[in-house]
Amino acid sequence: MSNYDVIVVGAGPAGLLAAGRAAELGKKVLVLEKMRSEGRKLLITGKGRCNITNSAPISEFITHVFPNGRFLKKVFSQYYSKEILALLEEFGVDVTLERGGRYFPTSNKSADVLKALLAWCRKLNIEIQCHYKVDDLIIEDNTIKGLIAKGQRILADKVIIATGGKSYPATGSTGDGYELAQKYGHTLTKAIPALVPLETEGDLAQKLQGLNLKNVKAVVWVDGKKMGEAFGEMLFTHFGLSGPIILTLSRIAVSALQNNQKVEITIDLKPALDEQKLDQRLQRDLNEHGKKKIANIFKFWLPSTMVPVFIEHLGINTEKECHQLTAKDRKQVRHLLKNLAFTVSKNRSFKEAIITAGGIPTNEITAKTMESKLIKGLHFAGEIIDLDAETGGYNLQIAYSTGWVAGNSATNP
Ligand SMILES: Cc1cc2nc3c(=O)[nH]c(=O)nc-3n(C[C@H](O)[C@H](O)[C@H](O)COP(=O)(O)OP(=O)(O)OC[C@H]3O[C@@H](n4cnc5c(N)ncnc54)[C@H](O)[C@@H]3O)c2cc1C
Repeated sequence: MSNYDVIVVGAGPAGLLAAGRAAELGKKVLVLEKMRSEGRKLLITGKGRCNITNSAPISEFITHVFPNGRFLKKVFSQYYSKEILALLEEFGVDVTLERGGRYFPTSNKSADVLKALLAWCRKLNIEIQCHYKVDDLIIEDNTIKGLIAKGQRILADKVIIATGGKSYPATGSTGDGYELAQKYGHTLTKAIPALVPLETEGDLAQKLQGLNLKNVKAVVWVDGKKMGEAFGEMLFTHFGLSGPIILTLSRIAVSALQNNQKVEITIDLKPALDEQKLDQRLQRDLNEHGKKKIANIFKFWLPSTMVPVFIEHLGINTEKECHQLTAKDRKQVRHLLKNLAFTVSKNRSFKEAIITAGGIPTNEITAKTMESKLIKGLHFAGEIIDLDAETGGYNLQIAYSTGWVAGNSATNP
């Protein structure tokens, strides 16, 4: 392999954007990808539909990013959602805007997004070598000189590490970049799974497995203190809780679990009704159906698969008729409808985490160029950086933008 101006490690969205931009500026670019094909993780995004980006303005976008969304201001001022959407459109991807400002390819195929990025790279004569794992960097006098892959020394003045995080390791993201960076003096904010399902104690969730709830509110409690809430959709599984609002709250839950704190999630099944309105509704329904068995009335308040589990959990005799329900029983029903409680025992592993929290700290990277503050000519892009965001297309935008900025600074001396 001959020498290059820029070598990009990793052919995910961050790496492809970095490569494309550097090549647009006339640089000779090589991309090394350890898997047999590019963009494995991109293909599974958005359940195969790829939530490409979000329509939020920068000021709002950065509030969905942790732990330091402000770092991205200088990045997004150079390359943002408008730019990636224009690039994808140029290569044949029409997009549709859905609720919550989420952009998807109109074809609903993440493969179309990957195809477009690869077509762009091909047009720019970028050399992409798959099944090529990078094992080490060549650094002299705190300056990058190249890297080592398959026992070969390949030289370049710029190296961009875009190896992703540790989540969904089957896609190739196994944390290699963390080790490379640490070996040469970078620190690492501990990598932990984020946007990850949660396991719960007892068998309540298991009994409800497969049930998907919409328009509910989940609240996360740490050592009895309310630490966050989310409204929307969730799912019961054989191990506990999952679905969008649980994933959103998992960031709080995981860090509390790491500190050995007690974590509970309560589900408000009737978030549109306060306690008083809910009680009025219960009384009205009970009065109207006085002679009916209580099991028959619960179906007005709950999805039918929940009814037997709910009644068992309440410990109320199912033979009771509605008019026999006491004020105390009603209070118990009300409480359960507003606070279906689960104790979280642990989070699921990196294998099921949408994103990795932690990584190379932003204070070791120059935002304007994505260059390492420790090693000249070494850049970082994408999920390897200590930035993670909620679901909604934010994480991919971080990858494209940090990638583009890293590639753009390849012309710097
Ligand atoms: C199931 C799932 C669904 C998701 N859905 C969405 C979504 O809809 N919208 C959204 O915004 N985000 C989504 N994300 C998050 C998004 O996929 C990531 O934020 C994004 O892929 C990060 O891009 P990246 O280029 O930094 O890393 P990656 O996409 O992980 O790419 C890194 C690449 O580097 C390669 N590599 C690693 N080590 C080496 C090495 N030593 N040598 C050579 N190559 C190496 C890997 O094989 C990999 O191909 C989802 C994630 C998952 C897991």
